[in-house]
Amino acid sequence: MTVTESLIEAADAHSAHNYHPLPVVMATADGAWMTDVEGRRYLDLLAGYSALNFGHRNRRLIDAAKAQLERVTLTSRAFHHDRFAAFCTELAELCGMEMVLPMNTGTEAVETAVKTARKWGYRTKGVPAEMAKIVVAGGNFHGRTTTIISFSTDPEARADFGPYTPGFAIVPYGDLTAMRDAMTENTVAVLLEPIQGESGVIVPPPGYLPAVRELARERNVLFIADEIQSGLGRTGRTFACEHEGVVPDMYVLGKALGGGVVPVSAVVSSAEVLGVFRPGEHGSTFGGNPLACAVALEVLAMLRTGEFQARATELGDHLQRELAALLGTGRVTEVRGRGLWAGVDIARAYGTGREVSEKLMDRGVLVKDTHGTTIRIAPPLVIGKEDLDWGLAQLRGVLES
Ligand SMILES: *Cc1c(COP(=O)(O)O)cnc(C)c1O
Repeated sequence: MTVTESLIEAADAHSAHNYHPLPVVMATADGAWMTDVEGRRYLDLLAGYSALNFGHRNRRLIDAAKAQLERVTLTSRAFHHDRFAAFCTELAELCGMEMVLPMNTGTEAVETAVKTARKWGYRTKGVPAEMAKIVVAGGNFHGRTTTIISFSTDPEARADFGPYTPGFAIVPYGDLTAMRDAMTENTVAVLLEPIQGESGVIVPPPGYLPAVRELARERNVLFIADEIQSGLGRTGRTFACEHEGVVPDMYVLGKALGGGVVPVSAVVSSAEVLGVFRPGEHGSTFGGNPLACAVALEVLAMLRTGEFQARATELGDHLQRELAALLGTGRVTEVRGRGLWAGVDIARAYGTGREVSEKLMDRGVLVKDTHGTTIRIAPPLVIGKEDLDWGLAQLRGVLES
């Protein structure tokens, strides 16, 4: 048995099988590359589902983390610490908003957004007790808690986890009429991904997001943009909403905010909306901890330069062109995406997304399949053009074999 096989066997024996990883065991990583326990190198075209937008072990982020490790790592929110104000101020500024509520994982931030919208609905909008409704889109992915999977349309995410949390209406993504029909006087929020990531990088029809923005304004409903995966440079802008000139009432952020070093998430909104919270009404032991703030502050400084957004635009245009050319092979049925982010549908007759991912892995390229026939491509934004081209050549090689 190889080292890889024995490590996978041990993992399978002692960890719940809630994932089905590719059969590779990583040992180290740097930039856009990972090295496995046998010394084989892989080009990472997944980037931790966008948690690694700045690459593996980005020097600036590792230095920021190390410096903070030598000072203080955790205070809990029982006390203030000296990185907290800067983190909240600078994140609010990047978002063009006023207040931040920090959490750790994306799913916690979405939960926080749901709680915020409900409390705002009761305290500010005047919705009768227990009546608040939130409209969401089919095909969404917002996380894994019992409340969040209650409004998922993915049977795998939902089955046998009920009873489900009420208070959500699900409408088809991209369908404005259905959205309008679903809104009642008790609707407190619309929660959407501006591009649906887990669903296969689904870009809504042009004009949809601005129309939802306008509808939400008319109905006094909060427009919540879950930019956990789409935000922070991935699409070539700081936020995917910017492509359509849309400013939501609330951003939900995570993944890249922690620089691939620590989990950092946040809800960012106005003082009117986040001002609904009083002490004791919501919280997290680790949310906004000094180490998280130190790393995120460096992430924010990097995003302010605009260089990562520019890189995602430039390399992204190249990526989208190259992927569109694969349609000619007959083995790809559709390509979607924006910036350095793409979903590629593999022709059923050729094989599954998983099979293509495994063949790519054998050639030293890592991607991840979703929903059977799609592979997702989301390289770290620091990837070199030559590396990206090499990765794309491997994909072409797999599809032509
Ligand atoms: C990943 C993701 C989440 C959940 O984040 P976790 O950190 O895995 O809890 C929520 N929403 C979107 C859009 C995501 O991509």
